[in-house]
Amino acid sequence: MLVHDIIVETSRVKSIRLKADGWAGHLPGQHVDIRLTAENGYRAERSYSIASPPGDELLVLTVERVEDGEVSPYLLDTLRAGDRLELRGPVGGYFVWTGLENNPLCLIAGGSGVTPLMSMLRHRDTATNRGPALLMYSSRRLQDVIYRDELDAMAGRDPALRIVHALTREAPPDWTGHRGRIDKSLIAANCFAPAQRPAIYVCGPTSFVESIAAWLVEIGFEPLNIKTERFGPSGG
Ligand SMILES: Cc1cc2nc3c(=O)[nH]c(=O)nc-3n(C[C@H](O)[C@H](O)[C@H](O)COP(=O)(O)OP(=O)(O)OC[C@H]3O[C@@H](n4cnc5c(N)ncnc54)[C@H](O)[C@@H]3O)c2cc1C
Repeated sequence: MLVHDIIVETSRVKSIRLKADGWAGHLPGQHVDIRLTAENGYRAERSYSIASPPGDELLVLTVERVEDGEVSPYLLDTLRAGDRLELRGPVGGYFVWTGLENNPLCLIAGGSGVTPLMSMLRHRDTATNRGPALLMYSSRRLQDVIYRDELDAMAGRDPALRIVHALTREAPPDWTGHRGRIDKSLIAANCFAPAQRPAIYVCGPTSFVESIAAWLVEIGFEPLNIKTERFGPSGG
């Protein structure tokens, strides 16, 4: 697929926008597998969630730098507009939200784990009939919040969407939001009640996803309504 352009999101994250010509379409939450092949034939393949909603002209992937990684530094530092990327997809039929469900939507993201959830929010944003939705989003610092302006704008025009930020490392002096990690009490205080049977999607680093999923079950949410996607091994 042809790289249309690349957008700087934060100091460690860029969005790669691809021309979606011939793209068969996807559901919010799905990912693609990118394959890089070196001149000597060496191959590396990694998964990246789709951040754009279904039906857009551009297919957007949002990539965070993993220091010393094989693929993410290439995508952030070397890839240019006009290059071609070999990708397979869409992949995944479990971590998807079609938008047809009418129960509340609860999204919980750690860092770049917001990517597939952003596809869901962008898709929801185009709907005429929007149910209640919550995004709980953990970032290191305010300047690390990916899609910050777009999220603020979305929440500003949509009273049914609530966004709760948690800043784990550093917060501005006038920050009125949560300081520290998302924990069980923050979830219990902000999430819908278990009786409302929200559809819950949790995405981020492996340890983040596992802690959050365990707390959700302890609070009383049905495991069948909790869908998780693990991006990789690191902690927050
Ligand atoms: C379904 C799925 C969807 C994904 N979607 C996205 C996405 O939208 N955006 C995105 O940026 N990443 C996403 N990832 C993670 C991505 O696939 C790669 O794992 C990540 O970019 C690191 O690849 P790398 O080649 O740079 O590092 P590697 O060469 O694979 O790893 C280098 C070192 O970093 C560690 N590491 C590997 N992955 C991570 C990680 N995610 N976080 C911290 N440390 C890591 C490794 O253990 C190793 O020590 C997704 C993963 C999955 C499974």
